[in-house]
Order: sequence, then structure tokens, then C-alpha cells
Amino acid sequence: MRETFLPFGAPLIEQAEIDEVVTSLKSGWLGTGPKVHKFEEMFKEYKGVKYAMALNSCTAALHLSMLAIGIKPGNEVILPSMTFASTANAVIHAGGKPILVDCEKDTMNMDPEDIERQITPKTKAIIPVYFAGRPCNMDRIVDIANKHNLKIVEDAAHAIEAEYNGKKTGTFGDIGCFSFYVTKNIITGEGGMAITNVEEYANKIKRLSFHGIRKDKLHSSFDKKYKHYQVIDRGFKLTMMDIQAAIGIHQLPRVEKYWERRKEIWERYNEAFKDLPVFIPAPIPNGVKHSYHLYTLLLDIDKLNITRDEFLYEMAKRNIGVGVHYIALHLQPYYQQKYGYKQGDFPNADWISDRTVSIPLSAKLTDNDVQDVINTVREIIALYRR
Ligand SMILES: *Cc1c(COP(=O)(O)O)cnc(C)c1O
Repeated sequence: MRETFLPFGAPLIEQAEIDEVVTSLKSGWLGTGPKVHKFEEMFKEYKGVKYAMALNSCTAALHLSMLAIGIKPGNEVILPSMTFASTANAVIHAGGKPILVDCEKDTMNMDPEDIERQITPKTKAIIPVYFAGRPCNMDRIVDIANKHNLKIVEDAAHAIEAEYNGKKTGTFGDIGCFSFYVTKNIITGEGGMAITNVEEYANKIKRLSFHGIRKDKLHSSFDKKYKHYQVIDRGFKLTMMDIQAAIGIHQLPRVEKYWERRKEIWERYNEAFKDLPVFIPAPIPNGVKHSYHLYTLLLDIDKLNITRDEFLYEMAKRNIGVGVHYIALHLQPYYQQKYGYKQGDFPNADWISDRTVSIPLSAKLTDNDVQDVINTVREIIALYRR
């Protein structure tokens, strides 16, 4: 057994960002400043878009996106039940109603057929979530959105590197949202980014992220002549700090290198688990670049004398950190009480919620770490196989 605990989702932090954070601290410029600006410029170039707004989280990006596209009370927004709370809460905080849909059993991404079934005259937008880093069927989703005149805001928290038919995530719809939370593919600790090609959305997101203050009226410490600010909207405080961007500007250039390493680990896991009573991730179709954010094993619990939760415990007991992505939103008390969702509403999301286990998949893992994860999964399965 492993001697030290292997955390789930440990970030790889290198010397350059450590030095850059120290430089920020010594300079005294901690808040939003030149490093945030630089990170936005780099991200814009990486994605090939006109506007990138750095924020303090992907949740902030999703929330402000909902406001930017004009979600209001009475509007409905369609999103998968198989996602993090953040996706639905962004809609709720904008005043809209989240309409959940089931996922496909194999890709775990939202089911386009189910999206179409849920469209009503109140539907305003769709939020596709690139589950585990796998692109959704964007041809279908963009078609549906065009046909019904709906906006698309992409939750690409898992999927910074992903592409679908050569097109980068975050560029299919109106606004794309990314996360740099510690467990994500590149990190700033807390942090997020919204991207768009629409100037009106960019201005609105920028303004709402900083108290609703007009950008062109904002005084900066570089200005000799004092400018008074003007509040023209009821905004929030959701900006990124230079200390966070100091990490991001060194992580972003390594995004492909880290991706390569996770791909290697992913392929090792596929090989190591293919003979076990588990469902490994669906094959990746041609024309799709997967981000390899989460490696989810679906336990074939009918062939095991162990539940998923017991499996989690057995892994942790052997010093391997695990995660669950996700217990679907329709199984969470808040959405059940508020909107009447219940178990059984979404058979595929129910099925996955009972079986899924995420095992460590990070560029930080050594070959020995990966072998420890493989050995531990195989040992537990061997013990509890029927
Ligand atoms: C992590 C995550 C978010 C939220 O990201 P934060 O930066 O932590 O706010 C949103 N959606 C999905 C699918 C996520 O995994």
C-alpha cells in the first residue's frame, strides 16, 4: 500500500509562477492590474477570440454571462443534470429557471434529443457542459439553438483544450466560460475567464464584474489626471487579482504539455482497467479533441459486492484520493425542493450518479503514482468481485 496520501486533483505548480507571485507581492500590486491584463491578452490569443475577461471564478463567468445575454425572471435555461451546482446556480442568480436534461449514457454529455423536448416559449438559452473534457455534440446543439433562436453559453470548466471539428471550446456560442480552480487543467487557485466575440457582452461582463462602473471612466494609478468613476449598473465584485494572474500567465503556456501528460495517463488507465467489471470512458470519436480532465470509472455494481460509496472508502483507506462527478443536480435537495425534481427523472444521470468514481488524473502524477492508482483499483475489485 502507498505510504503517503495521493490527493485527488493536485495541481502542478512550478518555480516560474512561485517567483512571479513573489514579484507581485514585492511590487505591492496585488489587485487587478497589468498581470490580469496580460493573462487576458494571452487567453484571447490562445482561443482566437476578440474579448477575454478574467474573473475570480468560472461561476462568476457563468453568472455574468447569464446577465449579459439578458436572462431575467420568467426565462428558462436548459442545462444538463449531470453537472456541478455552479451551472444551475448561475441561472438562478440571474433570475432564470434552470431546466435540467438527461445525459447520454456513454459520453455523459447532455442529450440533444432531451434538449429539444424541453424547449418551451420561455426558453432563452442552453448551457452545454463539456463533461470530463469531452466536447458535446455541438453540431446538433448549435442547430437546435439556431432553429429556436436560443443563446449558447458554454460551461467549459473541464475543457480548456478541447476541440470539436477543429473548433475550440468556448467559441461555438455567445460566451464561453473557463475555470482555473485548483483541480482544473491549468490553475490560478480560484479564477475563471469568459470569452466572446460580441463587444456588448464583453462590456457588460467587465462592468458587472466591477460594481457596474463604466470602464472608460475608471481611474487607474497610472493616470496623472484624476478621473471620477461613474456607476451605471448594479454590479458585483468578481474580478481576478494580479496574484492569481501571476500564476495563470505561466500555467497557460504549459497547457498542451500538461494535456499530453494527462492523455498518457488516460491511455494507461484504459489499458489497465479494460478487463475489469467497470465501464471505462467511451472511445473518443474522430474530429474530437478531449481535454482529459476527469477519468471516471463506472463501477458495474451488479457484478460487485460493493457499492460505489464503499469503493470510495476502500480507495481512501489505501491512500488514494477520489472524487465523484457528479451526484446529478436532480438528486440534490435544493433543486428537488425548489423545482420538484426527483430520482427517476433522468435515468442515465441516475445510473451514472450511483456508479461513478473519479480517480487521480493530473500532470503532477508520477509513473509510480499512476501505478499505485491502478494497483489499488485492481486490488479492491479483485476483493469484491462476484
Ligand atoms: C469547477 C466547475 C465550475 C465552477 O468553476 P469555479 O471556477 O470553481 O467557479 C463550473 N462548472 C463545472 C462543470 C465545473 O467543474
